[in-house]
This record gives sequence, C-alpha cells and structure tokens, in this order.
Amino acid sequence: MDNKLTKIRRTFAIQLTTKHKLKLHIPNNDSSDSIFEIFINEMSKQLHNKLIKQDEQLLKETNRNSPLFIQRKQLQKDIDDFQILNKRQDVRTIQQISERVEHMAMFNRKYDTTQIESLLQTNKQSQSIIIPTMKSTSVSCPYRALCCELVDRLNWPSELFAPEYDRCFCKTCYPITLPNACQGNIGNKYPIIIPRNWMKFGLKIDEVQAKIHQIWDKWAISYHGTLPNAALSMIKHRQICLPGDTLLDGTKLIIRPGHINGQKAFFTSPTIRYAAQNHYSTPLEFTSQIDKYVYTAKIVLRCRQMPGTFTIQGETLNNSQINGTDFCDIIPDEQIEWKTDKRGTVIFDGLCIRLKRVSNQTFNNNTIDQTYFNQK
Ligand SMILES: [Zn+2]
Repeated sequence: MDNKLTKIRRTFAIQLTTKHKLKLHIPNNDSSDSIFEIFINEMSKQLHNKLIKQDEQLLKETNRNSPLFIQRKQLQKDIDDFQILNKRQDVRTIQQISERVEHMAMFNRKYDTTQIESLLQTNKQSQSIIIPTMKSTSVSCPYRALCCELVDRLNWPSELFAPEYDRCFCKTCYPITLPNACQGNIGNKYPIIIPRNWMKFGLKIDEVQAKIHQIWDKWAISYHGTLPNAALSMIKHRQICLPGDTLLDGTKLIIRPGHINGQKAFFTSPTIRYAAQNHYSTPLEFTSQIDKYVYTAKIVLRCRQMPGTFTIQGETLNNSQINGTDFCDIIPDEQIEWKTDKRGTVIFDGLCIRLKRVSNQTFNNNTIDQTYFNQK
C-alpha cells in the first residue's frame, strides 16, 4: 500500500474511533504497522458490533425519523467507506474518501493522536463524551465543528471544496470589535459586508476563469440564498441557472413562490442577512450528533459577480423586512438586491452555513434532519 493511502487509512480509523466513541486505545503516530493493523482490526470489529446492536434496537423502533435510523445510516456508510479503502480497487471513490478524511483532519488542525488519546483517557469514566477531537480546544471553534458536521451530512463531492478558504465568522472567531464591512481589492468598488455568525466553506473556482477575469481583484462579493439541492445543482452547472432553464437532471427551473412572476433573473444581495430571508433560503432542521441539539440551518452561496453586469434595486420580497429596520447598516434597503440575467457573470466561491439552536430540543423530539434528506 502506498504511503499516502496508509496514512489516510490510519487517520480515518482514528477519526472513526472517536466519532463512534469506540473503546479503543489509539496508537501513537510512530507506532509500527503491525500495531496499527491490530488497532484497525479491532476498530472494524467494534464498528460491526455496534451496527448489530443498533439493528437490534431498531427492531423496536417504529418511528422512521428516529435519530437511531440516521445514526445507523451513518455508521453503515463509514463501514462501507473503510472497506473501500481496504480493498483499494475503486480509485475514484478512494480519492473522494481520502479528501474527506483530509478535510476533516485539516478542520481538526492541530489534530494529533496523543491529544485524542489523552482526551479518551480523561473521559474514560464518562460515557457522555462525544467526538473528543471536535470538542478539544485545539479545534478552531464549536460552531465551526457543528457547521462542518452539517456540511459533512450534505455529502457533496469533496472535489468542490477549497478548505484553505474556510472561514468562521462566529462571535469568537470574528469578534464584535472587528468591522462590519471591509474594503474590496483595488478595482472592486463594492463593499464587502462581513457575514457575521456564518461559517463559510471555500468552494473551488475555475483558475482560468479567475485569471482571465481577475475575479479575486475585481469582482464584487454577493450572496444567494437557496436550498441545498439547488445550490449543488448550480455549483455543478458551474454557473447560475435562470427560470426556464432545463437542468442537468432534466427538470425545468421554475420561479420560486414569493417572487415576481415572469421575471427571468438571478438575485443576489451584498448582504447575507437579506439573502438568507426565508423566501430565498428555506430553513432546514438539523440534529447534531456532537451535542444532540436540534438546529435550524440555512444555506447561502457566496458569489463573485462581475462589476457592472447587474441591476441594483430595492427588495422585491413583500413584508420581509426585519422589524421595519433596514436589513443592513451599510447598504440601504433601496440597494439591497442585485439582479442579473447574464449567466457567465456570477460564480460561486463559498458555501455559507448558519445554525440556530431550536430552544432546548434534543434527540428526544422527533424533529430530525430527515426533513433535509427528504428534499434531496
Ligand atoms: Zn467560529
């Protein structure tokens, strides 16, 4: 097995051990191959046993939306993915799994096995410890961890992401003392409004396009609120889709309710607060496996838009203002919406996630992220 795959397999095994709270001693990084093989065998065995146990519990479960079903589905996927790494046949899938593992490892930036080990030791007595790597202080922030969990759950192709551009704008990572807006690059006359309380995941963009159009220097930053499947569809199309377009999957794009009829246009906003309005970005329910809380999640695409190719206008959604005040303290409501029908002038460079905890609901409630999966 080549070096990289060996490393990925080890990292993945460690990630699964912590994710599924297995009672296992994680070997040090410099442990021999044979020690790692013993560890990996034991990890696989424990995962299988866990699956059998869950199947037994599920026999008594009648609610198809119960968290156990979701847990079981995730566990099965992890087992399958690990087997794919073991078999070393499906190169393409191995590549995808590797990138996901690396993405996760990168997100646990200071991730090292000794730390996890000590965390596991400390928490041996406590059954309630969940994913210690995510909870450890070395991990950037808990909000980021939750957003990562949601994105992981979306299960989008890892090739789409550019983790080096991930950025969290939660209160801890982007404190209130920092400015609400910043100056664009030279040549970009549009203000950049900080998406406070959102986590941005970098998306890869086409380098040729970026160079030809000097996208990083000149294009404006805007936001487009949407549903996960529509977002993924547009990212895969590599361009915006307008009402009336026939999509890759053969369906015809219609104007969503609440929008002006007959208007074939694509709407964005320089402020994420407007783009995240419910008409654009329908909230999803999401139950975290990390803290077991129920959240409403919103998804907004961050766009780069060619200057001078869009109309700046006031809001087109009725009664959507927030308590009669402006959406943004920098952009007046009369300029809150950007409208375009030019396909090549918008690209997507970020996936923004916002989570809001639904009071103190936990797993015991039947509200579950299944609502999201049903929309796929
Ligand atoms: Zn943060």
